[in-house]
Amino acid sequence: MPRTELLTVVIAAHNEEAALPLLHPRLMKVLDGLDLEASVLYVDDGSRDGTWELLRSFADADPRVGVLRLARNFGKEAALTAGLDQVDADAAVVLDADGQDPPELIPELVARWREGWEVVYGTRMSRDGESWLKRFTAAAFYRVMDRLSDTAVPRDTGDFRLMSRPVLEALRQLRERQRFMKGLFAWVGFRQLAFPYAREPRLAGGSKFNYWRLWNLALEGITSFSTVPLRLATYVGVLTALLAFVWGLWIVVRTLAWGDPVQGWPTMMTVILFLGGLQLVALGIIGEYLGRLYLEAKQRPLYLVAEMRLPAQANPLPHV
Ligand code: UDP
Ligand code: MG
Repeated sequence: MPRTELLTVVIAAHNEEAALPLLHPRLMKVLDGLDLEASVLYVDDGSRDGTWELLRSFADADPRVGVLRLARNFGKEAALTAGLDQVDADAAVVLDADGQDPPELIPELVARWREGWEVVYGTRMSRDGESWLKRFTAAAFYRVMDRLSDTAVPRDTGDFRLMSRPVLEALRQLRERQRFMKGLFAWVGFRQLAFPYAREPRLAGGSKFNYWRLWNLALEGITSFSTVPLRLATYVGVLTALLAFVWGLWIVVRTLAWGDPVQGWPTMMTVILFLGGLQLVALGIIGEYLGRLYLEAKQRPLYLVAEMRLPAQANPLPHV
């Protein structure tokens, strides 16, 4: 008889005590209906509300539920990494704790996986309920990423996805501290299938990502997957030098031909301020990369686990 396949659903939760009681029963019902052995691993990403107590009560009630508490809020990317690092299954599904990724779609992801796809990632068909500003900035971000990076980051794609075991093992080899998961997911490759779905509004509570956090995430994405901004500084520098040379020549010629009645205070100020600004921008770009290099060089762990109880697996994977 063939071994039953194992599937683990990984959910990162940060202050989600309002949404989890709505999501959890839905999820368990879906898992009950699957024809494979399924478990859930919740990662509490340093919540300050009752999330951890709630998760523990889920785990007490059902041995298929595992819980992991990080020592503090490490951010969603680290929380997901912590969860995925613990997965010992044939496939893992990543889900948001707020119900925006409907757990009812898991059977379809599993069906695509069984057709031979190694990654099945959800892409949102619509961005209903999001402000025009969020839509516009998201579109702009994907466009910039497309231009700057060799890794094609799929558009309108979040973390909602199923990944097979080889993909999980590949991801585990990427231990960079500056983690831009969308990019890492794309970077590993494998046979990937886009799976369009309607992203639902949050069940309860508010988004943990404001514009400032999204901006920082975008910077993370660009600096992790492209060094084009560094080269851009070089090109701008070369262009400025060329212009300066031509203009300088003109000034010399003009002075020789018509003399030099001292003038040019406005021009001088404009040039000094403009060049000063350009130099600071270039320094800032170098600084972005240098700072990341510094964080990477410290070799700190990606996350710290405070407490962990893994889901019981009736049928563990054979290990060599
Ligand atoms: N999340 C997390 N750590 C954080 C912030 C968010 O684990 O520091 C989780 C959060 O609980 C949710 C998911 O990441 O399950 C997505 O967060 P949110 O819904 O706030 O983001 P949005 O859907 O608005 O992009
Ligand atoms: Mg959400």
